[in-house]
Amino acid sequence: MKPFHTIVLIAIIAILIGSCNQDNSVAQENKSSQSRNNPELAEFINGVKAVDNHAHANTIDSSDKGSDALPLDGLGSIQLPARVRPESQTWVNAAKALYGFDGTLLNDSALHELLNLEQNVMKQKGEGFPSWALDKAGIEIMFANRISMGPGLSPARFRWVSYDDALLFPLSTKAEAAMTPDREKLFPLEDALLKKYLADLNKSALPPKLEEYLKEIVTATLEAQRKGGCMAVKFEAAYLRSLDFEKADGRDASEVYARYVHGGEPPRDKYKLLQDFIFYYIAREAGRLGMAVHIHSYPGAGDYFVAAGCDPLLLEPVFNDPELRKTNFVLIHGGGTFSRHTSAMLWKPNVYADISLLTQLWTPEQLAVVLKDWLSQFPEKILFGTDAVSFGPGLGWEMSAWIASTTGRQALTIALSDMVANKEITISHAKEIGTMVLQSNANNLYHLGLR
Ligand SMILES: [Zn+2]
Repeated sequence: MKPFHTIVLIAIIAILIGSCNQDNSVAQENKSSQSRNNPELAEFINGVKAVDNHAHANTIDSSDKGSDALPLDGLGSIQLPARVRPESQTWVNAAKALYGFDGTLLNDSALHELLNLEQNVMKQKGEGFPSWALDKAGIEIMFANRISMGPGLSPARFRWVSYDDALLFPLSTKAEAAMTPDREKLFPLEDALLKKYLADLNKSALPPKLEEYLKEIVTATLEAQRKGGCMAVKFEAAYLRSLDFEKADGRDASEVYARYVHGGEPPRDKYKLLQDFIFYYIAREAGRLGMAVHIHSYPGAGDYFVAAGCDPLLLEPVFNDPELRKTNFVLIHGGGTFSRHTSAMLWKPNVYADISLLTQLWTPEQLAVVLKDWLSQFPEKILFGTDAVSFGPGLGWEMSAWIASTTGRQALTIALSDMVANKEITISHAKEIGTMVLQSNANNLYHLGLR
């Protein structure tokens, strides 16, 4: 997900009309909601330092230009699920844990107070603020999905995940943008990002042949990202088109590219063929360079999001392609309400899923149901994640990181406690699985070298 400043402002107005520092804060928050859980397991899970597979940490620069390829602010007042609306109790809990906030409701004056508290801590911590935020959430390493990294996001604690959708769309995106009101606003951002990638390579125009585009622009960009510390490339393609990437013929793709690269409107079916061909190329190259491929798979956000287009089953031809078996794929947000389809895709040896965003939008009980399904089958394929992101002034990414970390640990504790109580696994095996999800699965997938 992305910054929601506009949405939050609107929600704050609606509230108006209608209505500190504890490093073990996550552990304390969890104690109160674990009466049905195994206390030994709860304590253990709360103590594991996590690797966060997907988040949108901000730098300490207040303008933070390199944060997001497709910020959803521009989509207007889109509906948000109840658990992340500013009036949700989860924000109050986070404000208490991080900043010692003592109110019971985040109304307008409380939000101002919270913003002051936040800014004071930011000033006091300086470059150390992002790492302080990770400490509060019990996170050792956060994967930051950003256009570029920046001040405060130290390499020791933050790893880079780039955005590469822009590379799929070298031709005019006019017809693609016309498909929905949301895409009309999002495609110009991808056009601008492709221009930035060209400028980064000191190129002022696209080459005339696809072969040259792939080598001189796509591979060169991927290699530069890898050299810049990039661990994975992220596709938000589901905001822009369906995830039904099919294997395409190189000659057909070359023809489409050469015919329209210098102008004209490609027919949508021909453009899809070219996009599909480039996607397979990027996935192959990412594998060669040792970067995983992250794919947004959640039915949202946005009032015009095409939910059917983000179903993980649509990616089966990609996952079944023998030429892509050296590439690891991670279903970001685990497919959301398509979680059973994610479960089917976990049979593929190179497919993983993370629980980012689910740890914010769902209650621990809801998430525990899905976790039990996945963990009873492929516990080595599930990764912890927050999707921490700024929801506006006073509701910064550090707050959503804390909420997601707390929720994720509660869900994991419920799921594993049930499995122990049902004698499916022993408590020591449950601890092992908890550690795998929170830390060691990511450690193995990305070769992080954690002990
Ligand atoms: Zn995200």
